[in-house]
Amino acid sequence: MTLRLPAALAAEIRRAGEAAYPAEGCGILAGHTEGGVEGEAKVVVRLVPAVNSRTDDPHRYLIAAEDLRRIDRELRGQGLDIVGYYHSHPDHPAVPSVFDTEHAWPWYSYIIVRVDRGRGTELASWVLDDDRAAMRAEFVEVFSEV
Ligand SMILES: [Zn+2]
Repeated sequence: MTLRLPAALAAEIRRAGEAAYPAEGCGILAGHTEGGVEGEAKVVVRLVPAVNSRTDDPHRYLIAAEDLRRIDRELRGQGLDIVGYYHSHPDHPAVPSVFDTEHAWPWYSYIIVRVDRGRGTELASWVLDDDRAAMRAEFVEVFSEV
């Protein structure tokens, strides 16, 4: 599956990571799926910043279950779904950690943005295999809205 991400939102994810630095910032990708000749794609329509409830470790993030339920309800009311999550890796590559893999669910997109010394750099999206063994890089189509 492909993840379609407006360029403005890619920039917003980088800014969120920069704002949270040196801690990890995180949030939710809200959007919908669309079918096409090349198969199904997830389209991100907007971001919902979330509070990182893990304050004990700067290299962990956790969105509280009650926040997630509330946000999910609000999005459904607007005809949107949660299609994934984003978080930052302060001074670390944009690849999933063991913690990230253990806490991921299949199908959803997990965008990771690397933040080097306070500046957002590479951005990548990952999807957990159905057997939950590993996360694989997902193709991200960054597009400009007209
Ligand atoms: Zn991570």
